[in-house]
Amino acid sequence: MPHARCNGHDLWECSPKDVFLRLYTDLNARLNGMNTEPTLTPESLALHTCCGPCLIEPLRLLRDEFDTITAVYFNPNIHPCDEYERRLATCAAYAISQDVAFIELEYQQQAWMQATADTSLSPQRCEQCYRLRFERVIKWAVERGSTHFATTLTVSPYQNQALIEKVAEELCERYGLVYAGRDFSDRYREATRLSREIGMYRQNYCGCGPSQQEARQMREQRKKRA
Ligand code: SF4
Repeated sequence: MPHARCNGHDLWECSPKDVFLRLYTDLNARLNGMNTEPTLTPESLALHTCCGPCLIEPLRLLRDEFDTITAVYFNPNIHPCDEYERRLATCAAYAISQDVAFIELEYQQQAWMQATADTSLSPQRCEQCYRLRFERVIKWAVERGSTHFATTLTVSPYQNQALIEKVAEELCERYGLVYAGRDFSDRYREATRLSREIGMYRQNYCGCGPSQQEARQMREQRKKRA
């Protein structure tokens, strides 16, 4: 049975786990309260947040630079739905534990599929993916009066740092925000250590369906070589 959050879209196989749904529902109720009236100051950062492990280090470092940070979860690339919710619950729980405002924007799987329809291979696929996610968060940030934008994606050494910077800077300039991001991949090892230490959920693929298949193939190839 398709998951309600997929709007009945039967291309996606959805098997949400009750535990995450319950956790998400509880968190959402709390977050709605937190998100209605954010106190944004002249130096406020909208931090696009891709997953819990990648949130840890940018949050710690950027907190020294901004009075207000809102972690914004907009990741319609993530497949399947239960994986989306698992990452969402992990991010939300960590943000709450750090007293940081957290918001989930809509889960638009079809928008991601449309944006990447002509670009099945990376880096073109990833560029469209970054563009879709950043633009939505930047538009949200402009509406809410944020001054800066950054993304936690740059913690991962598997992401295309140059492409992220190019897309983020271009969009920030277009919408009048300052790009406060940087290459955080030197913090990846520490983020891995800390996330393991606190028992945080750690995914083993980037997010989209194709990346899940690519990661699976790579693991199988490694196994064969061993
Ligand atoms: S591999 Fe990652 S960045 Fe690239 S399209 Fe898939 S989810 Fe987006």
